[in-house]
Amino acid sequence: MKNRKVHLLVIIVVLAAVASAVAFAPHGSQGQSRTKRTAAPIKPTVASTSASKAVSSFAAAAAQNSVLRNELSWTFGGKQQRGWYLYDHLLSETLSTNDAAVSDDFAAAVAKWQKRRGLSANGMLDQNSWMAMVSHWQGNRLKNRTSATSDQLVTAPPADFYDSSRAVELRQVERATYDAYKKMLDAANADLKLGPNSRYLKIVSAFRSREYQEELRRKSPNAGSAGLAVNNSPHFTGRALDLYVGGDPVDTKDANRAIQVATPAYKWLVRNADRFGFRPYFYEPWHWEYVK
Ligand SMILES: [Zn+2]
Repeated sequence: MKNRKVHLLVIIVVLAAVASAVAFAPHGSQGQSRTKRTAAPIKPTVASTSASKAVSSFAAAAAQNSVLRNELSWTFGGKQQRGWYLYDHLLSETLSTNDAAVSDDFAAAVAKWQKRRGLSANGMLDQNSWMAMVSHWQGNRLKNRTSATSDQLVTAPPADFYDSSRAVELRQVERATYDAYKKMLDAANADLKLGPNSRYLKIVSAFRSREYQEELRRKSPNAGSAGLAVNNSPHFTGRALDLYVGGDPVDTKDANRAIQVATPAYKWLVRNADRFGFRPYFYEPWHWEYVK
């Protein structure tokens, strides 16, 4: 009896082992090769378990970002805005990443930035984090908006302007800003080979007096606060330059800004302007402020 029981047990164990080998062996090897095949094009080197876990934990955030990028509803200057796709290049620069806005690595870069800002590091540019990003950019702008006095202004030659027939009183720029602009333009020309007939990065508008600003506002009363600054325009300082970056020079329509943010001139500014002391106004691709 005892022996029979042992035999039965042995048979059961052997059967179970065979059954599990049959069940798992093909599945296991298939699963492994499938993992290898899909993983190879993304990560050529074998990632450690913790690294692959970290990457995959941002896959959900990346999926959310691909929706938020086009759909996030937010308000700026009293106007309803949709998505943050127009700011891809600014985001890449701020987050120090070259990865596409919908990628896992971009979400990981967002999480790093969120952590530094004391936000929940979920990797998603949702309402909360996006508005923190906007505040960050706005906080980097010109702080002192005192009007320039005439001795602080120089008159730039017509050739520096998008419209070379621009009146002499509209060609004034704050002295240090103008010097920095010329240096930046030389560097842009060297990198982008703009050529003598190119209008890219020419000045559309620089110093504007309060009186002139008021006149502009009377001409387009519907521009709103996202359009022409009413009381405190950085253009009063002579340190704000509207530069030609393509499209309709100063039109905030999304379709126009989409054209502007895709030009090599704009992308160059995003990457390089800070070296020359210029910071962007995120909402207007053409508007740059000298902050030194
Ligand atoms: Zn401007």
